Amino acid sequence: MDYTEIMVRYGELSTKGKNRRLFISQLSHNVKKSLHEFTNVKIRADRDRMHLILNGADSQQVMEQLRPIFGIQSFSPVIRVKKSPEVIQETALEMVSEIWKPGMTFKVQSRRSDKAFVWDSNDMNREVGSAIYNGIEGIEVKMIQPDIRMEVEVRQEAAYLSCLTVQGPGGLPVGSSGRGMLMLSGGIDSPVAGYLAMKRGVEIEAVHFYSPPYTSEQSLHKAQQLAVKLTPYVGSIQFITVPFAEIQEEIKRCTPSGYWMTITRRFMLRLSDRIREQRGGLAIINGESLGQVASQTMQSMAAINDVTTTPIIRPVITMDKSEIIEIAEKIDTFELAIQPFEDCCTVFAPPEPKTKPKLEKVVQYEERLDVEALIERSLAGLSIQEIKTNDVYLNQSIIEMDDLL
Ligand code: ATP
Ligand code: MG
Repeated sequence: MDYTEIMVRYGELSTKGKNRRLFISQLSHNVKKSLHEFTNVKIRADRDRMHLILNGADSQQVMEQLRPIFGIQSFSPVIRVKKSPEVIQETALEMVSEIWKPGMTFKVQSRRSDKAFVWDSNDMNREVGSAIYNGIEGIEVKMIQPDIRMEVEVRQEAAYLSCLTVQGPGGLPVGSSGRGMLMLSGGIDSPVAGYLAMKRGVEIEAVHFYSPPYTSEQSLHKAQQLAVKLTPYVGSIQFITVPFAEIQEEIKRCTPSGYWMTITRRFMLRLSDRIREQRGGLAIINGESLGQVASQTMQSMAAINDVTTTPIIRPVITMDKSEIIEIAEKIDTFELAIQPFEDCCTVFAPPEPKTKPKLEKVVQYEERLDVEALIERSLAGLSIQEIKTNDVYLNQSIIEMDDLL
C-alpha cells in the first residue's frame, strides 16, 4: 500500500507533565537524526502524536528505522485520502484485505473533527464496516479485542485511515535523561547495562580500559564491535579508549595480590569519573550484578565505590545471569560477548581476590602508588572515536578463524 504518513504514539511521555515539551523535542531530534537519509520525510510533532509525512518515501524502510527508537510506544502507517465516502470505503477495504487472513476479526473505529462531514462517527463505523464485511468473504466483526482495528479519522483537511499498529520499544528518548559514561568491557553484562540505560533516556559514551601488550588488539575490537551493536538506538556512540597497562603493572608490583582486583577497579572508577567530568556527564553506568564475581559483593562494591560520590547506575545489579543473557540475545550482543578475546581484567586476575576487602587496607596499600600521576598519564593517552552503525571492527571471518585455531 502507498502509505502517506506514519503516525507515532508517544510512550511514557504523555504522563510527564512539564517535561513533556523537552521529551517531545528530544524525540523529534532523535527521529530526525535516524531518518536523515530520507530527505523527503517531514516531521510534525504535536502534543499527543508525531506525524511523519512520507512524501513518497518507502514506508517499510522508514518503519524499520523507527523500531529501535526509545520513547516511541507504537506507530501506525496511515493513508490520507480526500473526504469522499466512496474513497474512504474503497481504501479501507483495500487496506484490510491486504492484512486479513482467514479467521481474523475486525472492527471500525471512527472519529470526526469535521462536523460538516456527511457521516457522523456512528454512520462511519457502520458504512465503512459494511464495505469491509461485504468485500471480504468470511470476515467477522468483533467489538472487543478484534484482530484488525480499522481507524478512520475525518479532519478538516482530509481523512486518515490506518489498521496496523507496530509496537515501539517504549522507554524515554535517548538524551532526555542526560549523559552518562558506560564502562564497556568485552563481556556480556556491560552492553546490556548500556542498552537499559539508553532505554531510560541516558545518552551514553563508552569508556574502555585497554592494556596492550597484555591484551590483544582483538579484545579492543570486540568492545568496539559491541559498541556498534548499541548504535541503532542512538545513531552513533563516542568510544573512549583508556590506556591501562601501566596502572595494572604498578598495582601488581606494589600491592598484595589479594587486593589487586579491588585497587584495579578503584582506578577504573576514578578514571571513568575524571572522563565523565571532562565530557559533561552526570553518572557512570556499569554492568555489575550483585554476587556474580568477587568484585561484585556488597563489601567489594563499597570499597570500590569509595573513590567517588558520582551516581553509579547499575542496570543489571539484581538480575540473574540468565536474565541478562536473555536481553543480550535480544539486542544481539551475546554471540560477540562470548568470543574468547581476553580483556585487561582477566590477564591480571589474581589467584584469590578478596571478596570482603577492608577499606583501611585498600587505602593503606594504595599509598604505595602515585595515584594522581598514574591517572594523569593514563588520561594523557585517551583516544576518542565516533562509532557508527555500519562500522566493522571484528568481522565474522575473524571470529570463525579464531574458533578453528
Ligand atoms: P562484563 O560481562 O560486562 O564484562 P563481568 O561480569 O565480566 O561484566 P567484571 O569483569 O567484574 O564483570 O566487570 C564489572 C564491570 O566493570 C563491567 O560490567 C564493566 O562495566 C566494567 N569493566 C570491566 N572491565 C572493563 C574494561 N576493560 N573496560 C571498561 N569497563 C570494564
Ligand atoms: Mg568482564
